[in-house]
Amino acid sequence: MNNKTVRMLVSIAIIVVVALLVRNLAAPKGPQLQSGFGGGRLVMGTFANITAVASDDETIKASIEAAFDKLVEVDEMMSDYKADSELSVVNRDAFAGPVKVSDELFEVLKASVDYSRKTQGAFDITVGPVVELWRRAAKDGKKPGEEELAEARAGVGYEKLILDEENKTVRFAVVGMKLDLGAIAKGYGVDRAIEEMKKAGAAGGLVDVGGDICCFGASPKFDNIWRVGLEAPSGVSDYLLVLKLSDTAIATSGDYRRFVVVDGRRYSHIIDPATTASAGELTSVTVIAARAMDADALATAVSVMGRAKGLGLIESINNAEAIIIPADKKLEFVKTSGADAYIRK
Ligand code: ADP
Ligand code: MG
Repeated sequence: MNNKTVRMLVSIAIIVVVALLVRNLAAPKGPQLQSGFGGGRLVMGTFANITAVASDDETIKASIEAAFDKLVEVDEMMSDYKADSELSVVNRDAFAGPVKVSDELFEVLKASVDYSRKTQGAFDITVGPVVELWRRAAKDGKKPGEEELAEARAGVGYEKLILDEENKTVRFAVVGMKLDLGAIAKGYGVDRAIEEMKKAGAAGGLVDVGGDICCFGASPKFDNIWRVGLEAPSGVSDYLLVLKLSDTAIATSGDYRRFVVVDGRRYSHIIDPATTASAGELTSVTVIAARAMDADALATAVSVMGRAKGLGLIESINNAEAIIIPADKKLEFVKTSGADAYIRK
């Protein structure tokens, strides 16, 4: 080695050492983050899993408990299975006269009507009477009759839901109406649970209620990227693909997790409000959006609208993407133009 080479090597070594020093100085000081998991609890008729990231165990536990408490609270407000829920009181009394509701329930009802308008009625929480007939059909093993479907349909239509913003009241315009928040309450609950985690001091977290997911901040790998596997339809054990999410929500609607069986045939639990038929065209619809409530409602809407119209709708919405498995058994999928940015290569 001549002198020039030695000098060059020494200066490279100095540059490397300086670079390392700068990196160390720039590394965050303070307590190290850690992650904790609270999972497998039955809430909102499905299983919920929560991950929290914080600098200490206590904050992790407190934020997980606060999130679960919020999910239970939202369910007690919005479940149509619970006779004493606020929603059930509305369903019982809102034809007789206006019913005053909590700010939370009003917010969800108002958002629901907005989604109905945006989706030309594909998403509609007034499908309750029809959903009820399909649930009974599953129990009796007999498809609902044309006549009873026609009768139920008379009570369907978001324009028959009268919301008074000032007084926070709800009224039904016609008899026989029933609200069903099954396609939006989980998403709303997830968003509210995330809020609670932030309030409790978590640096990051993920709430998953039956596939309705929202995440924020630091992830368990401390890189702010949450990796979420998209489950393949039944019969396939592996993940279809893995999504990379930061401060984002996703929801999946599909006929492979929840469905009703009548005469040995599977019907989707999602109803096309226009026809009262079960919406069976798409195997699974995943929507990525800013809030879990948006993702939840839109995933249901796309299931009703079908592939072409559904993709068109999501393309037209800012910051929303969709990944659809169109047909049974095949694992091919179609997606909106921006979806690739979320898919791990
Ligand atoms: P999941 O509950 O499996 O996540 P969804 O979010 O799509 O699926 O919600 C489906 C539920 O929403 C149904 O079980 C029913 O209670 C209700 N529902 C069915 N069809 C519609 C619709 N077109 N618009 C709004 N809610 C619906
Ligand atoms: Mg939904």
